[in-house]
Amino acid sequence: MVIAVDGPGGVGKSTVANRVAEALELPHLDTGSTYRAAGLTALRMGAPLDDSDAVLAAIAGVDISIVEGVVSIDGADVTEDLRRDEVTKASSVVAAHPDVRERIVALQQAWVAKRGGSAVVEGRDIGTVVFPDAPVKIYLTARPEIRAARRSGDAEAADKSEDQIAAELAARDHRDSSRKASPLRPADDAEIIDTSDLSIDEVVERVLALVDAVGRR
Ligand code: C5P
Repeated sequence: MVIAVDGPGGVGKSTVANRVAEALELPHLDTGSTYRAAGLTALRMGAPLDDSDAVLAAIAGVDISIVEGVVSIDGADVTEDLRRDEVTKASSVVAAHPDVRERIVALQQAWVAKRGGSAVVEGRDIGTVVFPDAPVKIYLTARPEIRAARRSGDAEAADKSEDQIAAELAARDHRDSSRKASPLRPADDAEIIDTSDLSIDEVVERVLALVDAVGRR
């Protein structure tokens, strides 16, 4: 079965998705890394980020692969590069193009199909678009100040103030929620969990309880 874990940045998605995947012995796909790989490719090829055709041509010319969390472009490991600031921003700009999304979504669906159709898949539109029939859909949220505080603990945010991190998260949220193609929003049948005042263990327990409730199909 697919367990969809959606939500904005800084809500604990990756940590929770990883832990749930480990507990259920399922593969884990972080779909943010696929858009980051697309953004990095566009930057490297010099494709203007707001030009959908140019971005699409750039990513059509490369092979993006994800194996156990290691992301490669044409066979070279780019996992570290994907966390760079300019790549974070580029990923959210290129992710707004419907044609680019179509291609990247196909890659995500193929990734899961190749692993037998069962996985924990995290992102922004997993429960709404990529796997609308997923039997378990989680949408994580947290108060803005909590998200900024959590992000400030990440290595790539080491030299930034919490105010700056909060402003960047807000700008990305705005881009992700206001775009026409697959905007960030909870699926109608998603379980919304506010992680602000919960420990990781508590969130993981809630997700596993939901999985149990549908019977680990
Ligand atoms: O989750 P992460 O911060 O790595 O995602 C980077 C960007 O990729 C997001 O800001 C968003 O624009 C895009 N994204 C998306 N749909 C997904 C996952 C990520 O549009 N399913």
